[in-house]
Amino acid sequence: MAVKELLCVHMLIVLFLFFPAQRSAGQDKVFTVVIDPGHGGKDPGAVGATAKEKDINLAVSLKLGKLIGDSYGDVKVVYTRDRDRFIDLNERANIANKYKADLFISIHTNAVAKGSVRGTETYTLGLARTEENLRVAMMENSAILLEDDYMQKYEGFDPKSSESYIIFEFMQNKHMEQSISFASEIQKGFVACKRVDRGVRQAGFLVLRKTSMPSVLIELGYISTPAEEQYMKSAQGQNQLAKAIYDAFVKYKREYDRKQGGLPADAATSRKEITETPSTAHAGQVVYKVQIVASNKKLASNAKELKGYKNVDFYVENGMYKYTYGESTSMEEIRTIRRNLIKDFKDAFIISFKDGKKVK
Ligand SMILES: [Zn+2]
Repeated sequence: MAVKELLCVHMLIVLFLFFPAQRSAGQDKVFTVVIDPGHGGKDPGAVGATAKEKDINLAVSLKLGKLIGDSYGDVKVVYTRDRDRFIDLNERANIANKYKADLFISIHTNAVAKGSVRGTETYTLGLARTEENLRVAMMENSAILLEDDYMQKYEGFDPKSSESYIIFEFMQNKHMEQSISFASEIQKGFVACKRVDRGVRQAGFLVLRKTSMPSVLIELGYISTPAEEQYMKSAQGQNQLAKAIYDAFVKYKREYDRKQGGLPADAATSRKEITETPSTAHAGQVVYKVQIVASNKKLASNAKELKGYKNVDFYVENGMYKYTYGESTSMEEIRTIRRNLIKDFKDAFIISFKDGKKVK
């Protein structure tokens, strides 16, 4: 799967290189962003000492939509709700699909039962790799328990059972790269307004699962932490949070427009980043590589994480970019390569591929 995706990246780059003037038929189409304020109506979401998640989500969503609407003539803003009402999770995704949205932004507020946690997180769809991320998905997905016939509608999915979440393991997510890139910009925006950055994460959110466009779920902060609750319920806090997401939107839209124009800004750099073409010379053979770094975002060829190494390859797995160095059909040779890498990448380990697929 990983190398297949890599091949796709190559094919795209080749297309861009050969058809630089090719314009998408949808170029004159209006860009549609669907903003989804989590919870509402009978579902308050997380509840703080004085505020409710549903109200914070709605306020920030409306402010974000207004910022976008006021600045862009070519962007249509659609809300899944613009007042205090309950909407099924499936219906939220349906709205985005019905409008053929180009971007889906679900806005939420986090909480913990114990302790005082601060900070913002932005999620893309994927398999949760930590208990903490799984807990957030469980909490948000539990909204379906308030829906009629949820067992039927969600095919027996139990939001509180970790076993249910296996469905997110084998899921194809063709918009992952764009979603992660947008999520990273959102987190940068939050850092700029001095929020604690808890990073871009992945987890199995039902609301993201059925959307067929790049999509993110934002956790604005912890309503269970008094200082964060105060900030999020204040007009100033809500304005800053909306502005941070808006700034990320501006960058995302700029990049989108450049690609629509047929001249992708990063075609040249992407080409430099991917310096190794997947080889077809080893059909049927096991090919070994050394994995050196994993990242939740795509790294530039000169990224400090790669420590100056050139000819670094990558593949994508479970929402992570995994960088490899070296390639050999000889276990002995790859072990030597790994030994030489250990000084710079102490956790480097050997992985194997066969016919483009990662194998055990
Ligand atoms: Zn929520």
